[in-house]
Amino acid sequence: MSEENRAACEVCEEERVRREAVGFRQKYAIGLFSTVLLAVGLIIVLSGENPLLSYVPFMAALLASGRWTIPDGFRDLLKKHLGTSFLMTVAAFGAMLIGEPAEGATVMLLFYIAELLEEKAADRVKSEIGTLVELEPPSVVAKDGDVEVRLSPDDVYVGQIMVVRPGERIGLDGIVVRGASTVNQAPITGESNPVEKNNGDQVYAGTVNLDGYLEIEVTKLSRDSVLSRIVQLVNDAQKKKSSSERFVERFSHTYTPVMVAGSLLLGIASLILGVSLQGSVYRGLTLLVISCPCAFAISIPVSMVSALVGSARDGVLVKGAAILEKMSDVRVVAFDKTGTLTSGDFALENVCLHDDATEEEILEAAVSLEGMSEHPIAQALVRATEGMPRETADEFVSIPGRGVKGKINGDTYTVGSRRLLDEQSVELVDNEHSCGVGTVVYVAKNSKHLGTIVLADITRKGSKETIAELRRRGVMTVMLTGDNEVVAQKLAKELGFDEYHAGLLPEQKVRLIEELAKKGTVIMVGDGVNDAPALAAAHVGIALGVISSDAALETADVALMKDDLTKIPGLLSRAKKTMRIVRQNVAVSITLKLFLGVLAVLGLISLWLAIAVGDMGLTLAVIGNALRLTRKSVF
Ligand code: ADP
Ligand code: MG
Repeated sequence: MSEENRAACEVCEEERVRREAVGFRQKYAIGLFSTVLLAVGLIIVLSGENPLLSYVPFMAALLASGRWTIPDGFRDLLKKHLGTSFLMTVAAFGAMLIGEPAEGATVMLLFYIAELLEEKAADRVKSEIGTLVELEPPSVVAKDGDVEVRLSPDDVYVGQIMVVRPGERIGLDGIVVRGASTVNQAPITGESNPVEKNNGDQVYAGTVNLDGYLEIEVTKLSRDSVLSRIVQLVNDAQKKKSSSERFVERFSHTYTPVMVAGSLLLGIASLILGVSLQGSVYRGLTLLVISCPCAFAISIPVSMVSALVGSARDGVLVKGAAILEKMSDVRVVAFDKTGTLTSGDFALENVCLHDDATEEEILEAAVSLEGMSEHPIAQALVRATEGMPRETADEFVSIPGRGVKGKINGDTYTVGSRRLLDEQSVELVDNEHSCGVGTVVYVAKNSKHLGTIVLADITRKGSKETIAELRRRGVMTVMLTGDNEVVAQKLAKELGFDEYHAGLLPEQKVRLIEELAKKGTVIMVGDGVNDAPALAAAHVGIALGVISSDAALETADVALMKDDLTKIPGLLSRAKKTMRIVRQNVAVSITLKLFLGVLAVLGLISLWLAIAVGDMGLTLAVIGNALRLTRKSVF
């Protein structure tokens, strides 16, 4: 980034880095010390002593509170950059020179306080992210042969056994190999109810083992754990700028030089109009002080990060402020069906046989092929046929949105939708739904239809409430599914969708999303299976099932750590509220600065009042407003 492009707020940021090394206690002391000096000066003035004497405490107050600002001001000057430190230094010393030492000292002190407030807010934001990082315990107990050793999570290797006792935090992702317990997963998924964990269950770093003894086989290095990735994503999200942030930066960028030029012009014009030299300089300096944009530049990052961290705590990862911005005026929410509106658990309803095939043969063929697929239907078939022998399949192919195909003992088997079998020119023996109503999986051997499996999928808890709530808010709801018309229609009616589209291939879902995008902002909610292109095509893609799928977590704009659709209305409210607060802050800042500017032009406001209201007061107001998003106070 070139020096010119560097926005005003990033200058504040630079200062902050330099000041960071000093603790808040010392900074408060400097503030207090300067205040006392200022008071001493005022007492001297009021007691009628020689006013020249008052210059000593006032100058000392200016230098003390300008501890960082003044050196920065000179650095700005050398870099020929109109930074706020430079403006404040000019204003404070200028006031001293025209015989207003009390004002000069006050300007510097109030600016110091405003900066301190900003720092405090930034610090608070950092510690918010810190609370996520702290979820990883500093050490874990691992087994080295038969002995237990305490290790840093970074030193544990994949496959090592970790011991977690009741009340301890789990340090790494892994699978339970011994013991049983309940685990509080709230830190990762936001779900408040403890989850039971038995042999073979997946557990996550950062969650808390409540009441049992667990031995866990570590499956991921510390840096690859779901928790580490969440922290990484929230950190990255924080760095991505929203368009409102860019607007404020652009605004600050032109605002400051314009105001500086305006200050000069105001001074000259006042002089021409007959105001005294001292009075003219004073007016110019007042306008200069008003040109510090830091107060509202800080307000947007504070609002956005408060919202991002707030939702991460709730188990909803939003990858950047720009996404919050888009979600704030959503028109359409589209849902994938299988694995999204339904839990992906299917019950085996019926099996119809043709061509002398046996039920065993059909299920065995189906499960041999489906064992290699990640589709919810495939996994359901695998679950439903547990214990059944499986053949090894060759030349396995998964055909997205259609099904699977492969060779077993030299015969080609095809398992999937009616469309797939049609494409393979298999003549189907039963017509639509003669075998039963539900999600239908056809099985063919070579080009002969062997049989039909009918499955019924189970609606996910909260689906109905979520759709109802979205519709209540005037958001259009659409169901997009690759499943058949009958199943789609039944579910769409049951859940109260505005619209549904059935029999879609992944690319047709994309086309429909593009069509819906003509109405306004479209959110697509999916599980990443067969709908990743649609998730990418929508303005915002919300993914479920991310805890088990790395790809979904990486590619989605929003990741629901727990497969809970009811989080969506809350997320949309949060986005709306964030943008409302951002807009309020920008509007209030600009209006106030304009108003103060007019007063300065007319010579109706004093220097110290300009900074007290326009910088310190405004900083307090915008940060306070932004923090309503987390309902916690900084101070
Ligand atoms: P949805 O859009 O509802 O999530 P998909 O696009 O994932 O559904 O799948 C669409 C249809 O394709 C399913 O209803 C099923 O008929 C068929 N299908 C896809 N993958 C498989 C598979 N592995 N096994 C059997 N059928 C499949
Ligand atoms: Mg799906």
